[in-house]
Amino acid sequence: MTAAEPNAPTATGDELARKFVQEHEAQVRPLEKALSLAWWQANTTGTDADFAAKVEAQNRFDEALSDRARFARLKAAREAKPRDPLLARQMEVLYLTYLEKQVDPELLKRITAKANAIEKAFNVYRAHVDGKDLSDSEVRKVLKESKDSARRRAVWEASKSVGGAVEADLRELVFLRNEAARKLGFKSYHAMQLELNEQSQQDVLKLFDQLDELTRGPFAAAKADIDIKLAAKLSIGVDELRPWHYHDPFFQESPAVFDVNLDSVFANADIPRICRAFYAGIGLPIDDVIDRSDLYEKPGKSPHAFCTDIDREGDVRVLANIVPNEYWMGTMLHELGHSVYSSKNIPHSMPYVLRTDAHILCTEGVAMMFERFSKSADWLQKFGVDVPDPAAYNRTGEKMRRNRLLIFSRWCQVMLRFEKELYENPAQDLNKLWWDLVEKYQLIKRPEGRDAPDYASKIHIVSAPCYYHNYMMGELFACQVHATIAREVLKASDPASAIYYDNKQVGEFMRKRVFDPGRSLSWNELTKHATGEELNAKAFAAEFGGK
Ligand SMILES: [Zn+2]
Repeated sequence: MTAAEPNAPTATGDELARKFVQEHEAQVRPLEKALSLAWWQANTTGTDADFAAKVEAQNRFDEALSDRARFARLKAAREAKPRDPLLARQMEVLYLTYLEKQVDPELLKRITAKANAIEKAFNVYRAHVDGKDLSDSEVRKVLKESKDSARRRAVWEASKSVGGAVEADLRELVFLRNEAARKLGFKSYHAMQLELNEQSQQDVLKLFDQLDELTRGPFAAAKADIDIKLAAKLSIGVDELRPWHYHDPFFQESPAVFDVNLDSVFANADIPRICRAFYAGIGLPIDDVIDRSDLYEKPGKSPHAFCTDIDREGDVRVLANIVPNEYWMGTMLHELGHSVYSSKNIPHSMPYVLRTDAHILCTEGVAMMFERFSKSADWLQKFGVDVPDPAAYNRTGEKMRRNRLLIFSRWCQVMLRFEKELYENPAQDLNKLWWDLVEKYQLIKRPEGRDAPDYASKIHIVSAPCYYHNYMMGELFACQVHATIAREVLKASDPASAIYYDNKQVGEFMRKRVFDPGRSLSWNELTKHATGEELNAKAFAAEFGGK
């Protein structure tokens, strides 16, 4: 008698997995839909009752996923190794989803309470300058407009002092999060967050090293150009520029130094009409999405924009607050980009668990890829938008996009590397680490003699931990897929200026190469399926001048 291979897939695996999927679809799926609807309702009305209902729906969903006995059945099914690849994949996806919720409930309560306390401290905190309290938007206004370096410095320093107020709590939160991660078998909270998202620290860092190498030169050139403009506006020397001279507290956005805006051509533009025509033209119509959406400002409504797939049965909606300007043109293209990469176009034959995007970075990437066209005069003119000086519009749009993405990429480098270190070695000199990274990647000079917890003034470390890199990887995905479409579908020589309109082959490409696999492929398998290569920084760098 020969012993069975210990890790061989089994028929029992198929059976257990099929049973577990049935249980999940019967018990958890309705809670997931209820949560999506509650989320939509709360954001469209903003009433206390609807927000309470959303919290309630979230709790019921989390409870179902944290159920110990159910998790044990899932683990057994996964360990029995289903032979059917779609069942095996569902076990992997569900395992990571449930694993995240297996934290000891007492510990989870302490983590949530600590995070809430810090967020509250952020909400009530006001930068205090010259006997006056400044709100966040007043701080930003000074950083955008003031020509007085001393004033800028005082306001910037005051905005950073929230870091000192929350530093001790943040260190405790890091400690608690690490404890939760170690109990689930991970070496740190950072490693856990990535692995729950099917990423390894090593692979992500390797990608970011490549991105750093390919964009270091173009970024330095773009920043030198910005620095000259900033210094001239402030009547100081370039070598005197310090963090408070940039237009936002972290230099994560492009300073508005080029004195142009793209908004005027949108004065009479019907943005939803343009979107309908565009998406229909590439064979991915979105009329049903628009009809179900909530697109204009109203009291109580969330001021942001998002797209949500309510039931994975085609009920896909967008929340937005359209006004006729370039920002909302880009945002609508973006949100509707999410809407086409959803159960609208992922085949219904794909099981419920896999009938969604491969990864957050892939759906962000698709949305970012379509968003780019709001900055192209050539594209706008195809949809009847009158652009008086197309060459100037293209030049400005390209420069804005280039500066924004190069600056954002450097900011993401700081956040990724800082958070990894923060969780792996929280006892080190974090003040120093933060400024070392800012100097190295953002090329911003640290203020002489400053030793303060400036990292702790970034609320995302609390509210959206270990997450920024996904936005950046989304941008890489966007450029890589766009370059593939430009090459294979449009036969265009230069992806940077390639546009799509009235070409059903683009939709065909997106269906076959991006949407059809749903979540049956991991994000990097999908990237390879769509573009022939694993995710890398080459297409991004090529668009922005690095070869
Ligand atoms: Zn998005």
